[in-house]
Amino acid sequence: MQNDIKEVLYSEEQIGAKVKELGAQLSVDFEGRNPLVICVLKGAFIFMSDLVKAITVPLEIDFMAVSSYGASTKSSGVVKIIKDLDVSVEGRDVLIVEDIIDSGLTLSYLIDVLEHRGTKSVTVVTLFDKPARRTVDLQPHYKGFTLPDEFVVGYGLDYAEKYRNLPYIGILKPQVYEK
Ligand code: 5GP
Ligand code: MG
Ligand code: MG
Repeated sequence: MQNDIKEVLYSEEQIGAKVKELGAQLSVDFEGRNPLVICVLKGAFIFMSDLVKAITVPLEIDFMAVSSYGASTKSSGVVKIIKDLDVSVEGRDVLIVEDIIDSGLTLSYLIDVLEHRGTKSVTVVTLFDKPARRTVDLQPHYKGFTLPDEFVVGYGLDYAEKYRNLPYIGILKPQVYEK
């Protein structure tokens, strides 16, 4: 599995430090707001679990699953809700936890859906951002790292459901998906 990685971009330690930093900032900014923290499955599951441990204010969590890529490395532009939230977002300060923003299509769709349900506010935190590939006008409120235009895996992110368990983020060798 490690052999399929061309280059490690950020180590487990570097990611851990950044997640603590984001958690500390969010703890200040969400003081007294009891946010509903929404994990966008599956890619954000590791970031979500590390991030909520670094947030010190009372919060609630829920999960949502959307699909946009299938087994490909490019967004299809078609977003589908695979698993919806269990709780209502009406009147809530919502914090969306994303793994990575690429075209921005998935997230802009998700923000629309949640706002139509009557949220009080929607805030986005993403661990990784690839701004060079954005096709919609969307800026995360909080972000961990800006990445080059390369397909990355690890720390929750997959290629064809593999590599999610790598503790670091790395670039996959092109020959792995060009087969
Ligand atoms: P977008 O709709 O912004 O193009 O893509 C959103 C989703 O596609 C991300 O949340 C992530 O699940 C997946 N994605 C985008 N870029 C990458 C990447 O470089 N590697 C992996 N593994 N997934 C990605
Ligand atoms: Mg995602
Ligand atoms: Mg994926």
